[in-house]
Amino acid sequence: MRHILSSIILFAVTLSNTAFGQENRIPAKGMAMFSKEPHFEYYEFTRHSVGDNDILIDIMYSGICHSDIHMGKSEWGQIKYPFVGGHEIAGRVSKVGKNVTKFKVGDYAGIGCIINSCNHCQECEEGKEQFCEKGMVGTYASTDYLHNNEITQGGYANNYVVSENYAIKIPKNADMKRVAPLLCAGITTYSPIQFSKVAKGDTVGVAGFGGLGHMAIQYLVALGAKVTVFDITEDKRVDAKRLGAFRYVNVTNPEELKGLNNHFSFIISTIPAKYDPVMYVRMLKENGEMAIVGLPANENTPIIPTSLLIFAAHRKVYGSLIGGIPETQKMLDYSVANNIYPEVEIISADKIDDAYKNVIDGKVKFRYVIDMATLKNPKEKKNKQ
Ligand code: NDP
Ligand code: ZN
Repeated sequence: MRHILSSIILFAVTLSNTAFGQENRIPAKGMAMFSKEPHFEYYEFTRHSVGDNDILIDIMYSGICHSDIHMGKSEWGQIKYPFVGGHEIAGRVSKVGKNVTKFKVGDYAGIGCIINSCNHCQECEEGKEQFCEKGMVGTYASTDYLHNNEITQGGYANNYVVSENYAIKIPKNADMKRVAPLLCAGITTYSPIQFSKVAKGDTVGVAGFGGLGHMAIQYLVALGAKVTVFDITEDKRVDAKRLGAFRYVNVTNPEELKGLNNHFSFIISTIPAKYDPVMYVRMLKENGEMAIVGLPANENTPIIPTSLLIFAAHRKVYGSLIGGIPETQKMLDYSVANNIYPEVEIISADKIDDAYKNVIDGKVKFRYVIDMATLKNPKEKKNKQ
């Protein structure tokens, strides 16, 4: 009897392991944070197996988004550690499941912020997986309900396993060193610009001139809009002009803010810290729209009083969350075809601590990208010496 019972249990465990991809798990190595302190150490872990619809990507480059920092420091709520960040991923396909049609081994592929969603709700069917009714599965620090509720680990790593439906095709002629940040900074700014139907000749603003902000400027300039950039430093005035901005406003200098109320038809705020959104709402013309994408730590959430919305009536303020998979593909193809890329500084995997510090201190122009070929097990290095 006991024998039969244990056979049944073994069968059930095997079945569930097979169903949830526990068998043939893929060994992975990356750089992880083990506490809220932004300090990274080499870390070995596993990913679920390559299912019939999945691809295995050998990661070449991984961008550092400010969201990685907010999330890693548990600024949006407590996360589980170890935490491997990275949702701006570019690499090469090294294995494909038997049903995969979109990719073959050797193709370039990218992953952004979404690696799964229910696939059945109306939002998913319309390609807006970021609004999935069951919840999208994020690339890191997220519960993957399609894979045994495992917690996802991001792209500061040597590989990633993802369904082909959530992977983005990267054209062969793309500049691989610069393409990764398009998968988050690119789509997060491209999407609201499309949603608000910004057009040639529009007078628009970009608040926060960092990784996201410098992508927003490029998309807006390409559309023929007249762009004003807002930031808190003098260091980036020349860069804003170089990227085609019409005006640069250092918001710490009140003189420069004069005359801008009722001025813009569209403003995108990418600011990752506490700020006064009311100032920007007042700068909108009637029917103007402000898209908020900057997502500061919970304790720094900016507040817009409802009374302001009444006295600045017929201006619209909305939040925007990355973009769906079809729109991300569209953005990537458009960016590569029009040579719109982030300005990047390539770093080795042992320099992530310094990079985090520089992003927090406002010393990056404009995106750090980790060359994942530099990832090394420090113990192996010592053994060889
Ligand atoms: P960066 O740190 O690269 O850029 C932020 C920029 O904002 C910096 O240039 C910073 O200046 C500037 N800034 C800070 N405070 C102010 C202020 N009060 N007024 C004007 N400018 C200011 O961050 P990212 O571009 O990577 O990310 C921006 C935000 O967007 C983050 O909160 C991130 O989490 C969020 N995000 C949201 C997404 C979404 O889907 N909604 C997706 C991806 C990111 P300085 O450098 O001098 O400090
Ligand atoms: Zn991001």
